[in-house]
Amino acid sequence: MAKYHIALIEGDGIGPEVIGCAVRVLEAVGFDAEFVPIEAGYWAYKKFGTQVTDSAWQIISESDCILKGPTTTPPGGGETRMKSVAVTLRQKLDLYANVRPCKSRPGIPVPTKFTDLDFVIVRENTEGLYKGVEFEMDEDMVVSLRVFTRKGCERISRFGFELARREKRKKVTLITKANILQVTDGFFTDIFNKVAEDYPEIEHEDIFVDRANMYLITRPTYFDVIVTSNLFGDILSDGAAGLIGGLGIAPGANMGDNFAMFEAVHGSAPRYEGMRKVNPTAMILSSVMMLKYLGEDALAEKVENAVDKVLVDGQKNKELVTYDLGGTATNDKMTDEIIKRLE
Ligand code: NAD
Repeated sequence: MAKYHIALIEGDGIGPEVIGCAVRVLEAVGFDAEFVPIEAGYWAYKKFGTQVTDSAWQIISESDCILKGPTTTPPGGGETRMKSVAVTLRQKLDLYANVRPCKSRPGIPVPTKFTDLDFVIVRENTEGLYKGVEFEMDEDMVVSLRVFTRKGCERISRFGFELARREKRKKVTLITKANILQVTDGFFTDIFNKVAEDYPEIEHEDIFVDRANMYLITRPTYFDVIVTSNLFGDILSDGAAGLIGGLGIAPGANMGDNFAMFEAVHGSAPRYEGMRKVNPTAMILSSVMMLKYLGEDALAEKVENAVDKVLVDGQKNKELVTYDLGGTATNDKMTDEIIKRLE
């Protein structure tokens, strides 16, 4: 009997490739788990008419957590209106906090002078503009509702402060557009400020998303922990990934009170499907976040160190890393190099 049961979403596009790399590293480091592939993804929608089948929900309910490869969501506008697999899982499993660390890794070429970044974006993951309340008023007008609840704002604010306290961070910044979206973001700001009273040792502030976006580019060291709503967090975190070397190395976690799902920030990059050339690091570092969640800190450290060694060695030997880091390796080759450096 394995110690852990991990529901595995292989995903669409490049998903099966990067998830395969992550599983290989986890097995090589001695993670005692059974990985159970489940029927979830755009492929499942096309095959079964649902993006997450009943059997998948059943397996999830018996698992310790989900390790998820990226999945495809066809854009609206055409005939197919499939709700995103990620959003479906986050909402149904109430995984309300999307945690996206923005941490510089050694040796990676980055587009700015900031080479030692370490901040975390905590994005509300279940409501806001992604609540999915969209409708057609008439043939000339369509509407999306931005839904905030007291419970949603309270718990994401608290999650941000608890993370700051646990990781000994100094400041939590709420990012809103409360000058324009006064009802929703004003409500969020009031609740955030109230929660902040329980964390007197941690500095807090709220700033508007337009200024925050500029700061991300001009002075990203300004940030420590960011708390923000669903859409803003989605956009800002891809930008933050760019700061540390791109989507190929940016990991993420979707956290609830009793369950979690780990996935890279990036999507299914369909144009790279089958080429086996995308960077597996984001998915492997998402597995590191999973190991830490499960309390397997020693294994997490081993994998993280091995990844960093390959990133450093890859700056001298381009055969070790993938194209996005200026290299020529396939994702399988880069994974082999990571496995070689596990110790
Ligand atoms: P994407 O993240 O899939 O790809 C954008 C670009 O980023 C790629 O063309 C590539 O240049 C680069 N990139 C992404 N992953 C990389 C990696 N591992 N290594 C190196 N480079 C990498 O975003 P997109 O093209 O906007 O979306 C494609 C599909 O993914 C859409 O269907 C979208 O809905 C879906 N998506 C899914 C998730 C998720 O599953 N959580 C997240 C974002 C997008």
